Amino acid sequence: IWQELVENYRKSLTSPSFSAWIDPAKPINLQNNILTIELPSDLHKNYWEKNLAAKIVETGFELTGEEITPVFIIQDDEPIVTKTQKDSPVELPNIVKKNSKKALLNSKYTFDTFVIGKGNQMAHAAALVVSEDPGATYNPLFFYGGVGLGKTHLMHAIGHQMLANNVDAKIKYVTSESFANDYINSIKNSTSEDFRQEYRNVDLLLVDDIQFFADKEGTQEEFFHTFNTLYNEGHQIVLTSDRLPNEIPKLQERLVSRFAWGLSVDITPPDLETRIAILRKKADAEGLEIPDDTLSYIAGQIDSNIRELEGALVRVQAFSTMKGQDITTSLAADALKSLKPLKEKSELSILGIQEEVCKYYHLQLKDLKGKKRVKTIVVPRQIAMYLSRELTDNSLPKIGAEFGGKDHTTVIHAHEKIQQLIEKDITIQKEVNDIKQKLL
Ligand code: ADP
Ligand code: MG
Repeated sequence: IWQELVENYRKSLTSPSFSAWIDPAKPINLQNNILTIELPSDLHKNYWEKNLAAKIVETGFELTGEEITPVFIIQDDEPIVTKTQKDSPVELPNIVKKNSKKALLNSKYTFDTFVIGKGNQMAHAAALVVSEDPGATYNPLFFYGGVGLGKTHLMHAIGHQMLANNVDAKIKYVTSESFANDYINSIKNSTSEDFRQEYRNVDLLLVDDIQFFADKEGTQEEFFHTFNTLYNEGHQIVLTSDRLPNEIPKLQERLVSRFAWGLSVDITPPDLETRIAILRKKADAEGLEIPDDTLSYIAGQIDSNIRELEGALVRVQAFSTMKGQDITTSLAADALKSLKPLKEKSELSILGIQEEVCKYYHLQLKDLKGKKRVKTIVVPRQIAMYLSRELTDNSLPKIGAEFGGKDHTTVIHAHEKIQQLIEKDITIQKEVNDIKQKLL
């Protein structure tokens, strides 16, 4: 889309305007039909909003049949479309901010920005207790639940709060994948000692999404020792996962049992009231004027994932900026119209995709899920993995498991491979689209 767009602009603008306005623009991503474009200055943003946004929608629609909404961000800025923005509601002292940065905490994920509701009440309470008295109560504290429900947010909030209480607190936040990578690199570079220093000398260790420890023997071994050291010294450990420890495949028994020493709390999807409250808070934080009935409408459209809820708000906001209209329920309905199919997509199953792919290529399901390495099977298998990743909410390990117990890295690889093929090879592109059509 981007190339097509740029070509269009090149034709319709004089070349000095082209190099002044278009050249510096950088497409960031296209997600949920929102095209994020990075621009170097406010001036550029104004120009794009006024003169070029409509063209994006037009070209986008021509090429994809979907309504693409452009969102412009300024370099090193947050993706926010309105110009009238209040300061963020929480003002942490500068020194805390600095340390938070060092700990790689997201400054937006604080207790102040967290809305408490039925599904997360317990988790929130436990997080507060732990941040006030780290290492002394629930250790480890373990959050589990579906994607986009606030696990990472709460984890960071604990970190911020601890720093607010004690600016010298040493805090480390990592995803389980970075932990694994750091560990592997430390072996490669013979820097195991540094690795240990880094992970065992902290007051609070936050490890996110530990379900990805599955299958990583060496990393689990190392984490076991990290855990023991921290635990024995009374340092706090907080972990998250999409499920309970004993449901994580191939997680060592000794880790499972240690994780149960503390407190495990689940976070469940927010009810309508909580979703409205979350939207209200975000809208206020961004200085948006949105009537109550419109907020209820948006909250009614997206019922599980809070990240999607936020996405919907961004989308509505972008629509209102683009059309120069206030945010109303009918505008919101318009903005969210093309998101609807997304919801149905999540009801697709991996098996459904596999069966459709088999039908399309005249293959047997057992071959698709098997290990044969002939091209006539490998490509359809990768396409099925690609579609499972694109069109369902299943985690990578889950998708791998459904393909005869393959590793999640195989799924990542397949996804990348097909993505490249789709760009290069129109036959593949067409085949993938055909299958998609049949599925949706
Ligand atoms: P998870 O780690 O469970 O997948 P995140 O913590 O990344 O989910 O949350 C997804 C998004 O939703 C984040 O932007 C987060 O700030 C927001 N969010 C989640 N729960 C709440 C809440 N209770 N109040 C306000 N925002 C929330
Ligand atoms: Mg998370």
